[in-house]
Amino acid sequence: MKIEIINTGSELMLGYVLNTHQQWLCRQLSERGYTVTRQVAVDDTAPAIQSAVRDAISRADLIITTGGLGPTSDDRTRDLIAELLQRPLRQDPEILARIEGFFGKRKRPVPASTRVQAMVPEGAVVLQNENGTAPGLAIDFQSATGTGLLIMLPGPPRELRPMFLNQALPLVTQRFGPAPDFCCSVLRTVGIGESFLEEKIAPDLGPLIARGLDVGYCARVGEVDLRFVARCPSAEPLVREAEQIAQHHLRSFIYGREAEGLDAAIVKRLTELNKTLALAESCTGGYIANRITNIPGASAIFRASLVTYSNEAKQTFLGVRPEILAEHGAVSEPVAREMAEGARQRTGADFALAVTGIAGPSGGSPEKPVGTVYIALASAAGTEVKKNLNQYDRETFKFLTSQQALDLLRKALT
Ligand code: ATP
Ligand code: MG
Repeated sequence: MKIEIINTGSELMLGYVLNTHQQWLCRQLSERGYTVTRQVAVDDTAPAIQSAVRDAISRADLIITTGGLGPTSDDRTRDLIAELLQRPLRQDPEILARIEGFFGKRKRPVPASTRVQAMVPEGAVVLQNENGTAPGLAIDFQSATGTGLLIMLPGPPRELRPMFLNQALPLVTQRFGPAPDFCCSVLRTVGIGESFLEEKIAPDLGPLIARGLDVGYCARVGEVDLRFVARCPSAEPLVREAEQIAQHHLRSFIYGREAEGLDAAIVKRLTELNKTLALAESCTGGYIANRITNIPGASAIFRASLVTYSNEAKQTFLGVRPEILAEHGAVSEPVAREMAEGARQRTGADFALAVTGIAGPSGGSPEKPVGTVYIALASAAGTEVKKNLNQYDRETFKFLTSQQALDLLRKALT
């Protein structure tokens, strides 16, 4: 089965909007065993949209287009596809009533231009829009191998996503059947580079690869995802076997699975243990607190974060001793230690993480180059301090440092 995605929108071509539909749709489909064979983004012009659709029709069984179903003059996907497939458009009274209801509820008149959204190509199935006025459309076409299905989805993500999950996907499975034996699993690792990771597991995975297992390594800042995919009979047992091998060799590096981030894993673990966390952040400026508080339920474990950027703040709010600051400098092992211990003591948290470092681009010295960072963890078991060299731009530096700090805590919790 060949699946192609066509994202329309001049804003994509101009770089004003990141094409997240492409990633999201591929992800949704691949998680259900459907593989996208081609994806293309085009601007809003008639030649661009029609030639992309014409090309896709010559190859694909399923085509998904996004965007251009709105009421403005640059929203032309519906008309252009109807024209290409030679399906005359007719006004659908039900959609029109729905649009009138949508505006009526908001006590606003229906703009004349919005009525084009009630136009439906002959023979098309209408996909209701739970969060807007433009319905999606599903329409058959003559493909190279039989009858194909073309699905048009609206551009705004909050309209597209529920429409795809609740209405388009059922049509896809109904038409093409459930995906053949398929299983995919992603294990998230931290604290090990991708080459070392592969070295550790490759020998044992060899026989599984021969049986049809596909292994992927996805390195990101501060972590590596390990992906197992099988598309063959007994796909699930094969993937589970691979997971066991990974657990055996990489147990101390695996922190979670699928989309769960290290921050979420930490919140979950602390919640299970009924323990609390405090933070003392200098160079990360509250970034770790931001990550923790992005996780629903963080209030059960999170006490406070003290963003102590200046030496005075480190003294006043964390009790770092001035002589320690004077002797070793703010970016040092003893200061990181006192920051963590001060945060733990002053907040009463079970665990306190502290970070102090030089994000750059200036402020480095031969002894302490830009990127130097000390990370401390204080707990009932004592205090440990790690030194790292994260030589990146400021944003990457902050993320990587937060990742290393959370990993230090993760290890203490396992
Ligand atoms: P509208 O009724 O809002 O005009 P539409 O179906 O015509 O909806 P577009 O005009 O193509 O869709 O896009 C509307 C908005 O949706 C864009 O401004 C953009 O913010 C977002 N959007 C469109 N395409 C994408 C995409 N590929 N990835 C992420 N966001 C997108
Ligand atoms: Mg639009």
